[in-house]
Amino acid sequence: MANQENRKFKKIGIALLGLGEYSDAELAPALKLTNHCQLAAVISDEPEKMEEWRKNYGINERCCYTYDNFDDIKNNPEIDVVYVVLPNTLHEEYVIRAAKAGKHIICEKPLATTVESCQRMIDACRQSGVKLSMGYRLHFDPFNQEMMRLGQGKVYGAVKKIIARNSMKVGDESQWRLDYERAGGGPLMNNGVYCVQGAQYVLGELPVAVSASFLPKSDPEKFAEVEEGIKWTMEFPGGAIAECETSYSKDESLLRAEAEKGWFELSPAYEYRKLKGSSSEGPIQFAEINQQAAQMDDFADCIRHNRESRVPGEMGLRDLEIMMAIYESARTKKRIELHLEEFEHLEEK
Ligand code: NAD
Repeated sequence: MANQENRKFKKIGIALLGLGEYSDAELAPALKLTNHCQLAAVISDEPEKMEEWRKNYGINERCCYTYDNFDDIKNNPEIDVVYVVLPNTLHEEYVIRAAKAGKHIICEKPLATTVESCQRMIDACRQSGVKLSMGYRLHFDPFNQEMMRLGQGKVYGAVKKIIARNSMKVGDESQWRLDYERAGGGPLMNNGVYCVQGAQYVLGELPVAVSASFLPKSDPEKFAEVEEGIKWTMEFPGGAIAECETSYSKDESLLRAEAEKGWFELSPAYEYRKLKGSSSEGPIQFAEINQQAAQMDDFADCIRHNRESRVPGEMGLRDLEIMMAIYESARTKKRIELHLEEFEHLEEK
């Protein structure tokens, strides 16, 4: 039956926009592992890199675009989806241009760096009738899905406390992640977003308040434009608290839930591979999958069956509202209340 259905549909053509580290090391290899997608085009401002990709992946010259002629993708029926993999503050411009070209979009995290920018992107996609999905790959990972099941299903009773930490050492001082103009913030934007996500998907609830403080800067010159680290708590309506931390000066990856009758955790929790789970009852074990391939195949299915992504742009906007409140709390040293809107996609099916 599944085979018959697959024959009915052509593969979804994905154009990668931005041929940096994530496209190169993860998304292009993952595309080869998908069942329903293929690399249809590349868009880049680096001619040499484009040539390399053209040769490596056998991409036709008519499917290679620069940022200048990018809008011509509207005339290319081989492209169904544009996957935006650029530094954070560039997401808005290219998502809106892709929407105007009538293409569905996957946008990397964070969706943008202001709430207003996220809203403009969502509005542009709605106006053009195209789907906007986040690159939230962990929603498709079996270990993180198990955390959702255990938490939302109250398998160990109600979760009382979440501990979420995601930190990575940044080396190269010239990278855009340390440049406010390109990144829109520091580790909160790049790594902390996984903690914001993790707490919500374990609990299946939206936070009602946040309190935050910046961590001291060990290298004020290197971290002149963005925070070096930040810690925060999120309060949830059922009474649970999430204690979270992210930093650019150490390596850490933890998502832990403490519930009435036991605990469960992943560490590492947010990586592409080799996640490790355990609980008060023993190890949590699953066969590893390619998260990005599963994420892209799911989006292909959304397009084929005209259903909403389980990680829609609206989820990215909501996470931005939370992260902006975290920054505000750290700046003002005040607890910030949140009034976020529920939408049906939060609950995992
Ligand atoms: P990168 O620096 O390796 O690549 C960025 C790409 O953007 C490069 O192709 C570069 O040429 C292009 N670029 C840089 N400056 C530009 C400019 N001013 N104008 C136009 N293009 C420009 O970065 P990356 O690690 O690939 O990250 C890109 C995006 O992917 C970010 O939003 C990041 O948060 C996200 N990301 C997500 C994951 C994940 O697990 N979901 C992992 C890594 C990165």
